[in-house]
Amino acid sequence: RQPLVEIKNLKKYFPVRKGIFKRTVGHVKAVDGLDFSIFQGETLGLVGESGCGKSTTGRTILQLLAPTEGEVLYEGKNLTQMKANELRKLRRDLQMVFQDPYASLDPRLTVGELIAEPLQIHQLYSGKEKDRRVDELLHVVGLNSYHAKRYAHEFSGGQRQRIGIARALALSPKLIVADEPVSALDVSIQSQVINLLQDLQEQYQLTYLFIAHDLSVVKHISDRVGVMYLGRIVELADKQDLYDSPLHPYTKALLSAVPVPNPLVKKERIVLQGDVPSPANPPSGCTFHPRCSACMDICRTEKPAFQKVDGRYVACHLYK
Ligand code: SF4
Ligand code: MG
Repeated sequence: RQPLVEIKNLKKYFPVRKGIFKRTVGHVKAVDGLDFSIFQGETLGLVGESGCGKSTTGRTILQLLAPTEGEVLYEGKNLTQMKANELRKLRRDLQMVFQDPYASLDPRLTVGELIAEPLQIHQLYSGKEKDRRVDELLHVVGLNSYHAKRYAHEFSGGQRQRIGIARALALSPKLIVADEPVSALDVSIQSQVINLLQDLQEQYQLTYLFIAHDLSVVKHISDRVGVMYLGRIVELADKQDLYDSPLHPYTKALLSAVPVPNPLVKKERIVLQGDVPSPANPPSGCTFHPRCSACMDICRTEKPAFQKVDGRYVACHLYK
């Protein structure tokens, strides 16, 4: 498989400012050294509790946020060092679908205008051709031509997410970062949107980075899954390996909270101690150590490397 995107030592720190002079007193290490690839045509699920840096990861990969350090290679080209006009051309390939489609859609525009907007910005179609393209996109996401004249607030959450997806598809992208695209939707609607995303992936050979806060949401759609904790990926594996035999204690804890379909299968719930620490002041060594039941002396002082173990990647001193 060919990597579409290669992420190397990616970091994004936000300054913490205090006082009347807004002096920088520290940094929130939202993304703190990521190394992974997204392969052509795959869905990579990215999971973690809120505040672990998933959204920042997605936005930094797409260069909607400038990385503090590291590289993002798209088809071998380094996006982080690209000039603005070069990057503008590539923008078409790299799109985002947001968690709350309503917040991301301009309420003054009709659905047709919303979907046409990216086409206008990139000067791709005009006049009748543009209308035809909008019509086509509406159908592709399961809506109809007559929806074009209406406003986003007239639609249900699931339909709004379809509008958001149509907008993202307008420029025929190759990579879509979907940032919790179903988290705001009813469970019954979630699977419809996930199925739509899967159909579209097949139809248009799309590659997805699919962000979610819980492992059950990404299970169906993902080929591989990465688990994030405090700005780092602690485990990244093929879906089956990750769900059947997780290695990292944090992955194990998250999985123990996923309900099993068979009630006869007994599963022990691993309850995590305490809350996620602040990324402005992360614990020393392995940042998971204050909550880890397998914590050893070395874990308090030494940061575990993100290394390959049995065909997957894990950052934990238990695996050497
Ligand atoms: Fe637990 Fe140590 Fe592994 Fe961190 S490195 S997850 S503290 S065993
Ligand atoms: Mg988020």
